[in-house]
Amino acid sequence: MRNKKRGLVALVYTLFVLFISTGSVQSSQLYINELLEANPPPQVLKEGPVVRVIQPGVQKSTPDEEHIEGEVEVESEPKPLRKVALTFDDGPDAHYTSRILDILKTEDVLATFFVLGEYVERYPELVKRIFSEGHLIANHSRTHGDLALLTNEEIIALELDPTSQLIENLTGYYPMMMRPPYGSLRPDSVNFLKETGWRIVRWSLDTFDWDSRRNQPEQIINRIKAQHHNGAVVLMHCNGPATTTVLPDVIRTFQELGYEFVTVMQL
Ligand SMILES: [Zn+2]
Repeated sequence: MRNKKRGLVALVYTLFVLFISTGSVQSSQLYINELLEANPPPQVLKEGPVVRVIQPGVQKSTPDEEHIEGEVEVESEPKPLRKVALTFDDGPDAHYTSRILDILKTEDVLATFFVLGEYVERYPELVKRIFSEGHLIANHSRTHGDLALLTNEEIIALELDPTSQLIENLTGYYPMMMRPPYGSLRPDSVNFLKETGWRIVRWSLDTFDWDSRRNQPEQIINRIKAQHHNGAVVLMHCNGPATTTVLPDVIRTFQELGYEFVTVMQL
């Protein structure tokens, strides 16, 4: 009887332990499930809700990306640079032409020099330097006389051809581009020169560097800021200090306005 009792107690105890254990397992499992629902493990996040979380982010970032791409495309498009040609008349001379060439070299700017035959004869080394540094050499007559006073044949025979011959002797290049001194040329001479293959170049922006009454640096810069335009042919000279003083600022001003410098031939 006592043994039976002891056996029954043992059985009840065992069943109790089993019940508790099973209950604990079940409640533990419930607890884990709740945790999983509340805080899914990383692998669930990756394949499940994270995709939905990322999706809005992607959608949100897409317009930004398009916006950025748009800006990049705008920046990557070649900016249509406006062009301007600096021209220097009446050289070469003993003092200013070499200084002008130094400045152009430092600033990496190409220009056009309308030279006089008489000075080409006097300063041949400067003509060679102008040519060798990549600038365009053009014809400004031999004596700087008023071409309106000459016949068409005289313009060629006395002024233009001798000057271009001298330049060709020094550089191998015979210029067929000319600028009449003072801009003075009769209409019939304009037609005659064009028919014989000459290109006549005047100017579209006079810096007035030649005029001591209005060639202070500030006046020249203000003139450029007021009159600049694409394709401008800028009139300057080789024969005065006003030009060399203001030239670095002239170059900077045009660059800040968005221009690149070319020779007249490249306009
Ligand atoms: Zn001149």
